[in-house]
Amino acid sequence: MPSKKDITTASHRLKQGDPAMVRHANQIREIAQQRIVHLFCMAEAASHERPDLADRYVEMAVRIARRTRTRIPAHMKRCFCRSCGAYLAPGRTARVRINRRRSTHLTVTCLRCGNISRRGVARRAHISSASSAGLDHDTCRPQ
Ligand SMILES: [Zn+2]
Repeated sequence: MPSKKDITTASHRLKQGDPAMVRHANQIREIAQQRIVHLFCMAEAASHERPDLADRYVEMAVRIARRTRTRIPAHMKRCFCRSCGAYLAPGRTARVRINRRRSTHLTVTCLRCGNISRRGVARRAHISSASSAGLDHDTCRPQ
């Protein structure tokens, strides 16, 4: 694992377009991507028994992404609270509701800090997913 100093000099050489450094940076990002995915898988597994451990794995994944400037895959980005960093497991550490007010959207509430995140839902997708997931109660009443 290269130290912080190595990465800084690497990014400097990268800006100068050194092909070897570009290859090196891509390798680092590829490894980082693998580790982020692995950490999120571990967080999911740990979230049942050890939610504290799941939060820790998320913290490590976010730190790797930041340090290596790697994107966290979109579906994984939704799995943690942007405010407190908690791993969001629907029904355990997060409350998920479909809201039909304004344009139909999903409301995800972090049960640790209460932070609410909203996400738009495609019209067709929300009907099928709501009925198949058994979520058509509570906020899903017809208005
Ligand atoms: Zn939170």
